[in-house]
Amino acid sequence: MGGSFDPIHHGHLRAALEAAEALMVARVDLLPAGQPALRSPLAASNHARLAMLQLAVADEARLGVDARELQRPGQTFTIDTLQSLRQEAGPKAPLIFLLGADAFSRLEQWQRWQLLTRTAHLLVLSRPGQTLSPPSHPLFLAQRLSEPLDLLRRPFGHWSALEITPLAISATDLRQRCRQGQSLRYLVPDAVWDYIQAQQLYRATSLSQD
Ligand code: ATP
Repeated sequence: MGGSFDPIHHGHLRAALEAAEALMVARVDLLPAGQPALRSPLAASNHARLAMLQLAVADEARLGVDARELQRPGQTFTIDTLQSLRQEAGPKAPLIFLLGADAFSRLEQWQRWQLLTRTAHLLVLSRPGQTLSPPSHPLFLAQRLSEPLDLLRRPFGHWSALEITPLAISATDLRQRCRQGQSLRYLVPDAVWDYIQAQQLYRATSLSQD
């Protein structure tokens, strides 16, 4: 599951865990982006976002963090990440990239998007306020599978959708709350909120673009 995780919140964590349960897989990795191509500079450093992710998943064996995008210089393109994961997994292992319905509807803006489903499957997670609207390209019509579990029968080439517990939490809103001096408790794991306060992240004076 890719994202900027600026910061990681309970919306991300429930989404990843519910996907792991629906797919009956032992582990879902969260992949923090270095500098996502389609958005303004991130508010927290790579180091801080990675530290918050590690704190967030520390007590859940089914969630992990894969930091490969932070190690690549320049803009982050998901297709590069999927190709590197594919190389490691070999041609036959099913590979599934998780993304929210908001990100899915804008997929045709992603770099080399046609290659995404030639490398992995996509599992689209519901998100409050977003209807499931696949990108308009006809390719997506033919690639849909109704059951997420069916993705595991093949290595790549399809997408499916999963309805998850609706949690209307967004990192943009969390950064705004911080700037206004409000608490993030119960919206992010306690350890993440403690870290944000200790490091004085997302304060009015920090360089946020929102
Ligand atoms: P921002 O508000 O900064 O854009 P965000 O909260 O959308 O951040 P991202 O790190 O951009 O978080 O999201 C990573 C992935 O998680 C995306 O695919 C996004 O659609 C999905 N996602 C984020 N929040 C939720 C949520 N509350 N429910 C379901 N999916 C979510």
